[in-house]
Amino acid sequence: MTTWLANTIGTPVECLKIGSEMEYMIWARQVMHAHGVTPILKDWTGDQPAAYVNDGRWAARCLMDTNTCIAHPGGSAEWPNPVAVCAECGTVYRPVFPANRELAEIVLLARPDVRQRHWFGDRDETPERLGHLIVENAENKWPKRRAIPSSGEVV
Ligand SMILES: [Zn+2]
Repeated sequence: MTTWLANTIGTPVECLKIGSEMEYMIWARQVMHAHGVTPILKDWTGDQPAAYVNDGRWAARCLMDTNTCIAHPGGSAEWPNPVAVCAECGTVYRPVFPANRELAEIVLLARPDVRQRHWFGDRDETPERLGHLIVENAENKWPKRRAIPSSGEVV
Protein backbone atom coordinates (compact mmCIF):
# COMPACT_ATOMS: atom_id res chain seq x y z
CA MET A 1 0.00 0.00 0.00
CA THR A 2 1.16 3.46 -0.85
CA THR A 3 1.10 4.80 2.70
CA TRP A 4 2.13 8.35 1.76
CA LEU A 5 -1.26 8.73 0.04
CA ALA A 6 -3.21 6.92 2.77
CA ASN A 7 -5.08 10.01 3.99
CA THR A 8 -5.31 12.25 0.96
CA ILE A 9 -5.99 12.17 -2.76
CA GLY A 10 -2.61 13.16 -4.13
CA THR A 11 -1.76 16.37 -5.94
CA PRO A 12 1.66 17.70 -7.04
CA VAL A 13 2.20 18.60 -3.37
CA GLU A 14 2.28 14.96 -2.26
CA CYS A 15 3.25 13.23 -5.50
CA LEU A 16 6.03 15.53 -6.69
CA LYS A 17 6.88 17.38 -3.44
CA ILE A 18 6.07 20.69 -5.12
CA GLY A 19 4.70 23.62 -3.11
CA SER A 20 3.30 26.00 -5.69
CA GLU A 21 2.17 26.38 -9.28
CA MET A 22 5.37 28.32 -10.03
CA GLU A 23 7.51 25.45 -8.70
CA TYR A 24 5.41 23.01 -10.77
CA MET A 25 6.27 24.97 -13.93
CA ILE A 26 9.98 24.93 -13.02
CA TRP A 27 9.83 21.18 -12.33
CA ALA A 28 8.19 20.51 -15.71
CA ARG A 29 10.86 22.52 -17.52
CA GLN A 30 13.60 20.59 -15.70
CA VAL A 31 12.06 17.24 -16.69
CA MET A 32 11.72 18.35 -20.31
CA HIS A 33 15.32 19.59 -20.38
CA ALA A 34 16.54 16.30 -18.85
CA HIS A 35 14.73 14.42 -21.63
CA GLY A 36 16.24 16.55 -24.37
CA VAL A 37 13.03 18.45 -25.11
CA THR A 38 13.10 22.24 -25.49
CA PRO A 39 11.68 23.35 -22.12
CA ILE A 40 8.99 25.72 -23.33
CA LEU A 41 5.58 25.63 -21.64
CA LYS A 42 2.45 26.63 -23.54
CA ASP A 43 -1.07 27.21 -22.30
CA TRP A 44 -3.78 24.97 -23.73
CA THR A 45 -6.47 27.26 -25.14
CA GLY A 46 -9.07 24.69 -26.21
CA ASP A 47 -11.60 22.85 -24.09
CA GLN A 48 -9.92 21.86 -20.85
CA PRO A 49 -9.66 18.18 -19.88
CA ALA A 50 -11.64 16.75 -16.97
CA ALA A 51 -9.69 15.95 -13.83
CA TYR A 52 -9.94 12.34 -12.65
CA VAL A 53 -8.49 10.15 -9.93
CA ASN A 54 -5.94 7.49 -10.88
CA ASP A 55 -4.23 5.36 -8.20
CA GLY A 56 -5.20 7.86 -5.53
CA ARG A 57 -3.93 10.91 -7.41
CA TRP A 58 -5.76 13.74 -9.14
CA ALA A 59 -4.74 13.72 -12.78
CA ALA A 60 -5.56 15.08 -16.21
CA ARG A 61 -4.81 13.41 -19.53
CA CYS A 62 -2.64 15.42 -21.91
CA LEU A 63 -4.64 16.06 -25.07
CA MET A 64 -1.43 16.16 -27.15
CA ASP A 65 0.17 12.85 -26.15
CA THR A 66 -2.17 11.14 -23.59
CA ASN A 67 0.46 11.55 -20.85
CA THR A 68 -0.95 11.43 -17.32
CA CYS A 69 -0.37 14.80 -15.65
CA ILE A 70 -0.74 15.19 -11.88
CA ALA A 71 -3.38 17.85 -11.21
CA HIS A 72 -4.02 20.38 -8.46
CA PRO A 73 -7.51 21.79 -7.86
CA GLY A 74 -6.26 25.28 -6.93
CA GLY A 75 -7.94 27.51 -4.39
CA SER A 76 -4.96 28.80 -2.38
CA ALA A 77 -2.33 31.51 -2.68
CA GLU A 78 0.30 28.97 -3.79
CA TRP A 79 -2.11 27.22 -6.15
CA PRO A 80 -4.53 29.92 -7.30
CA ASN A 81 -6.07 27.93 -10.18
CA PRO A 82 -6.56 24.32 -11.18
CA VAL A 83 -3.44 23.21 -13.02
CA ALA A 84 -1.83 20.19 -14.63
CA VAL A 85 1.40 20.42 -16.60
CA CYS A 86 2.54 17.82 -19.11
CA ALA A 87 6.24 17.25 -18.55
CA GLU A 88 6.43 15.43 -21.92
CA CYS A 89 5.30 18.28 -24.18
CA GLY A 90 5.01 21.33 -21.92
CA THR A 91 1.29 21.91 -22.30
CA VAL A 92 -0.27 23.66 -19.30
CA TYR A 93 -3.88 22.70 -18.60
CA ARG A 94 -6.53 24.18 -16.35
CA PRO A 95 -8.39 20.91 -15.74
CA VAL A 96 -12.05 20.93 -14.85
CA PHE A 97 -12.52 19.39 -11.41
CA PRO A 98 -15.91 17.90 -10.51
CA ALA A 99 -18.22 20.13 -8.47
CA ASN A 100 -18.53 17.30 -5.92
CA ARG A 101 -14.75 16.85 -5.60
CA GLU A 102 -14.66 16.92 -1.80
CA LEU A 103 -17.42 14.31 -1.49
CA ALA A 104 -15.66 12.15 -4.07
CA GLU A 105 -12.47 12.34 -2.02
CA ILE A 106 -14.31 11.17 1.09
CA VAL A 107 -15.78 8.23 -0.84
CA LEU A 108 -12.40 7.29 -2.33
CA LEU A 109 -10.50 7.68 0.94
CA ALA A 110 -12.82 5.06 2.49
CA ARG A 111 -11.05 2.53 0.27
CA PRO A 112 -8.22 0.94 2.23
CA ASP A 113 -5.83 0.45 -0.70
CA VAL A 114 -4.66 3.46 -2.72
CA ARG A 115 -4.65 1.25 -5.83
CA GLN A 116 -8.44 0.97 -5.50
CA ARG A 117 -8.91 4.74 -5.60
CA HIS A 118 -9.94 5.51 -9.16
CA TRP A 119 -12.65 7.78 -10.45
CA PHE A 120 -12.78 8.72 -14.09
CA GLY A 121 -15.71 11.10 -13.67
CA ASP A 122 -16.26 13.00 -16.91
CA ARG A 123 -12.91 12.02 -18.44
CA ASP A 124 -14.37 9.58 -20.93
CA GLU A 125 -17.41 9.61 -23.22
CA THR A 126 -19.38 7.60 -20.67
CA PRO A 127 -19.22 9.49 -17.37
CA GLU A 128 -18.59 7.46 -14.23
CA ARG A 129 -20.98 8.81 -11.63
CA LEU A 130 -20.07 9.22 -7.99
CA GLY A 131 -23.04 7.01 -7.08
CA HIS A 132 -21.25 4.12 -8.79
CA LEU A 133 -18.29 4.54 -6.43
CA ILE A 134 -20.61 4.64 -3.42
CA VAL A 135 -22.24 1.37 -4.54
CA GLU A 136 -18.80 -0.22 -5.01
CA ASN A 137 -17.81 0.87 -1.51
CA ALA A 138 -20.97 -0.68 -0.07
CA GLU A 139 -20.44 -3.93 -1.99
CA ASN A 140 -16.90 -4.18 -0.61
CA LYS A 141 -17.88 -3.02 2.87
CA TRP A 142 -15.53 -0.03 2.68
CA PRO A 143 -14.62 1.43 5.07
CA LYS A 144 -14.00 -1.70 7.10
CA ARG A 145 -15.59 -1.42 10.50
CA ARG A 146 -13.48 -2.06 13.56
CA ALA A 147 -14.60 -4.97 15.65
CA ILE A 148 -16.30 -3.98 18.90
CA PRO A 149 -15.66 -6.64 21.56
CA SER A 150 -18.50 -7.82 23.78
CA SER A 151 -17.14 -5.67 26.61
CA GLY A 152 -18.12 -2.66 24.58
CA GLU A 153 -14.62 -1.23 24.41
CA VAL A 154 -13.66 0.04 21.01
CA VAL A 155 -10.27 -1.29 20.02
ZN1 LIG B 1 1.75 16.30 -23.32
